Amino acid sequence: MLNRRNLLSAMITATVAASATGGWPVLANAAPTRKRLPWRNWSGSQQCLPEARKAPATVAELQELVAASTGTVRPVGAGHSFTPLVPTDGTIVSLARLSGIVDHDSEKLQATVWSGSRLGDLGKPLDDIGQALINMPDIDEQALGGCLATATHGTGASLGCMSTFVRGLQLVDGRGELHECDANNNPDLFNAALVSMGALGIITQVRLQNIAPYRLRRETHWRTFEEIVETAEALADKHRNFEFFYIPFSGMGFTDSQDFTDEPLGSTEKLDGNEGVEDLRLARDLMSKMPRVRELVLGSYMRTLDSEVTVEKSWRNYASERNVRFNEMEYHLPREYGLKALQEIREVLESNHQEVFFPIEFRYIHSDDIWLSPFYGRETCSIAVHRYFEEDYQPFFKTIEPIFRKYHGRPHWGKLNTLTRKELSKLYPHWDDFAEVRRSYDPQGRFLNDYLRSLFT
Ligand SMILES: Cc1cc2nc3c(=O)[nH]c(=O)nc-3n(C[C@H](O)[C@H](O)[C@H](O)COP(=O)(O)OP(=O)(O)OC[C@H]3O[C@@H](n4cnc5c(N)ncnc54)[C@H](O)[C@@H]3O)c2cc1C
Repeated sequence: MLNRRNLLSAMITATVAASATGGWPVLANAAPTRKRLPWRNWSGSQQCLPEARKAPATVAELQELVAASTGTVRPVGAGHSFTPLVPTDGTIVSLARLSGIVDHDSEKLQATVWSGSRLGDLGKPLDDIGQALINMPDIDEQALGGCLATATHGTGASLGCMSTFVRGLQLVDGRGELHECDANNNPDLFNAALVSMGALGIITQVRLQNIAPYRLRRETHWRTFEEIVETAEALADKHRNFEFFYIPFSGMGFTDSQDFTDEPLGSTEKLDGNEGVEDLRLARDLMSKMPRVRELVLGSYMRTLDSEVTVEKSWRNYASERNVRFNEMEYHLPREYGLKALQEIREVLESNHQEVFFPIEFRYIHSDDIWLSPFYGRETCSIAVHRYFEEDYQPFFKTIEPIFRKYHGRPHWGKLNTLTRKELSKLYPHWDDFAEVRRSYDPQGRFLNDYLRSLFT
């Protein structure tokens, strides 16, 4: 039987039947030269051979480890950041053995959670105690500590990044000392630790403000680029969670919204997102020299796609599996510039970068007052561009980054960018405040690898 996916493959193959593939060069990943203790991130763009990799089972063990260390110590979560935050030839410390819920307050709907917990492992246990995370990113593989460190966010114009859900935390500083802090008790340390790139200390426990368990109705609709641009602002204000994707060289994209519901759980037939990306790669491979044909084929196919509706428990509805690996650049722009920047990005991409096939993701995030949050003091929209993990991302990202910067973008701390300390400090009014708190809790620079040293010393 010819299903939708086969239909697209057939359309692509038939259109380019006898033409040359125009295949894109594949860059080999540098293999570690020594066998000892290699570490690499999810996309393979960051690698290192640390002296040691540790996973303490108690806070006391972690304190001893930091106090006794003479070299660099870098905390790691799930290794899903693209920037060189973790690599070191010193010690990498995972809090994977410190995970789960420590205790909770049913009246305030707060839960104290170990920071080594993976987001995907928190949904059910929180549900069991009558709580749920306020919002989540589009995957749930990350450790909570890793999410906070880079200001990881979901989408929703009235919803802040994950660090804004934190009401108190505990961390081990560069001397191995343990500190508790919140908005009243040591507020400067608290503010600095909420988004810190792991440069200030190792967070052990986090008190999260949650809400009662809820269901979400998720709807996706395929639309033309023009329709998306025309309606996005209104849809972002109308729905609790709203984002959209534009598919390069198709003229089409889809909007994705989520709202509270009491409807019964259920779902219409869903397209597999990973297969979809593989199909876009096939179209790129076979039609990169024929952009108009590529647009005709992809656009015609996408116009045949149905809307999808899913009703699920919140923690099952936010994340999806990303099996096709990539490298990513994401900038956070003042909301008023987002759509204008997107139009420029589309123009440049489709004129000069036929090699690109990943969708562009566009999300909304509420402002906050966290010193190193990219959402500090402004309503934000985020635009993310991607390159397949085996291909050189630099030429494309180099073309796009100036557009982000022109519109006062601040980079996602976990995603690729070329900004220096000088450039970043101009974007963050409290940069020096953060650097001072960092120095006082880590006077010997125990938590600084080369990249972080270039930012904070
Ligand atoms: C497929 C994919 C999808 C993604 N989707 C989203 C998304 O929807 N929204 C979004 O905003 N981002 C997204 N990201 C980026 C990702 O959420 C961030 O890079 C996040 O920081 C990764 O978490 P991690 O646990 O892997 O942390 P790592 O990458 O391992 O570490 C990130 C930082 O956290 C620090 N750290 C880790 N644990 C601690 C701790 N206990 N105390 C102090 N510091 C600590 C590390 O030192 C490092 O500086 C995505 C990334 C990928 C690969």
